[in-house]
Amino acid sequence: MRNADVFPRYRGNMEYFCLGCGQRHGVDELLYTCPSCGGVFMLDNLAFDKLAETSGDEWREIFDERASSRNTALRGIFRFYELMAPVVEEEDIVYLGEGNTPIVEASKHLVAKTGVQFAYKNDGQNPSASFKDRGMACAFSYLKALVRKHGWDEVLTVCASTGDTSAAAALYASYVGKPLKSVVLLPHGKVTPQQLSQPLGSGATVLEVPGVFDDCMKVVEHLAENYRVALLNSKNSWRILGQESYAFEVAQWYNWDVADKCIFVPIGNAGNITAVMGGFLKLFRLGIIKALPRVFGVQSHHADPVYRYYSVEDPKEREYKPVKVTPSVAQAAMIGNPVSFPRVKHFAEQFEAIGGRDAFQVILVTEQQIMDSMIEANMHGHIACTQGGECFAGLKRAIELGLIKEGQSAVLDATAHALKFSGFQDMYFTNTFPPEYGVTPDMSLANAPELLVDAEAKDKLSPEEFTLTAAKAIADRLGLASK
Ligand SMILES: *Cc1c(COP(=O)(O)O)cnc(C)c1O
Ligand SMILES: [Zn+2]
Repeated sequence: MRNADVFPRYRGNMEYFCLGCGQRHGVDELLYTCPSCGGVFMLDNLAFDKLAETSGDEWREIFDERASSRNTALRGIFRFYELMAPVVEEEDIVYLGEGNTPIVEASKHLVAKTGVQFAYKNDGQNPSASFKDRGMACAFSYLKALVRKHGWDEVLTVCASTGDTSAAAALYASYVGKPLKSVVLLPHGKVTPQQLSQPLGSGATVLEVPGVFDDCMKVVEHLAENYRVALLNSKNSWRILGQESYAFEVAQWYNWDVADKCIFVPIGNAGNITAVMGGFLKLFRLGIIKALPRVFGVQSHHADPVYRYYSVEDPKEREYKPVKVTPSVAQAAMIGNPVSFPRVKHFAEQFEAIGGRDAFQVILVTEQQIMDSMIEANMHGHIACTQGGECFAGLKRAIELGLIKEGQSAVLDATAHALKFSGFQDMYFTNTFPPEYGVTPDMSLANAPELLVDAEAKDKLSPEEFTLTAAKAIADRLGLASK
């Protein structure tokens, strides 16, 4: 019997390789994008074949045993250490409770209505309330390893974001502390109070410039090229690696059998869907799963460059073009030129080669469908953000198109907690969407608080009278019969 608390002895030999020009670089340097061509990197473990000497059966046993580990280094995404970043040491691993998010079966009502079994994986139950924590746990563990190795006395972690990336980066940086210092760059006036409160609460330096996300992105990329800063946007390949843990957890939850699963993932910058496909491919290559699941990317018609690319049937005719986005309720996925598109293409080809033409697909949904689906899911006990609503809308659309086969079931990614996106719920319930979203609420679903007694009336009552008046008002409102 192995001891699930003992840290693994295996070490990988990792290299960056550029999807643009194919060049390879060692991981001793802090590289964000390819110095030669500016392309995005993937991380390659040159000692991956060594893992294949262990059978799929044995890997399943190892990971199942580790699920009960009390070693904090192995409790989160590094339960899958050998598949993750097997160059960091036990002492480098940062664990804030990320990963192992619950897979919650869809409520009976929703299953009956859609006619398909499905479940939500609640990635909003990560520490900063989005899946971004998976990637940050990996990126910060690697960063800690680098700092230790080089003896750096100051490292600035930087990201541009209007939401979940900055919340996650600021959280992990503040936990690690010295010599890390966290800076986030936000577009002035374009962030909601909730989005702003997370990095502020974590003590990050929050800087603002006029403009939009893209302006911030250009500024931080210029910084990364000219100064020693660790840039934590999703071009950072360590983040992609950490996010692969989502796929590992799904497979493990279903006892390593995902042959009949349809995995729905929203696409923004396309880092998440890259990681999900990459993760399942790793499990397949090691025989840990015997067949790939089907992966469905979902995009809004207001930000749909990946959908447009894959909607062309003949691969030779496909042509990638950035699109101009219009406002989307799936704000975290509102990206017209996804930085990880080359990564999606890289893995989609492998997926199709192994699983056939329908192993990877992209579904288009409307803003209206996204909002209706989020409200519907949450009215039945789920905690989906707008992007989680987008996945549900994607499932319904896929069913409508006849894409879900007999016996198949779906797993929807609720990428963040509903609370982060409560502003959109407010707009739905109060019918106050700005026209550019194109959302008309179903007012039969609207919900609002009702004031039973106003302050003026309360002032005129004694405390006892007030209690009686309020209780009577409730009984009347609800038509309660007295005992
Ligand atoms: C970042 C994010 C997305 C989009 O993920 P990509 O990796 O950019 O495609 C979706 N939902 C939420 C809640 C996010 O924070
Ligand atoms: Zn390159």
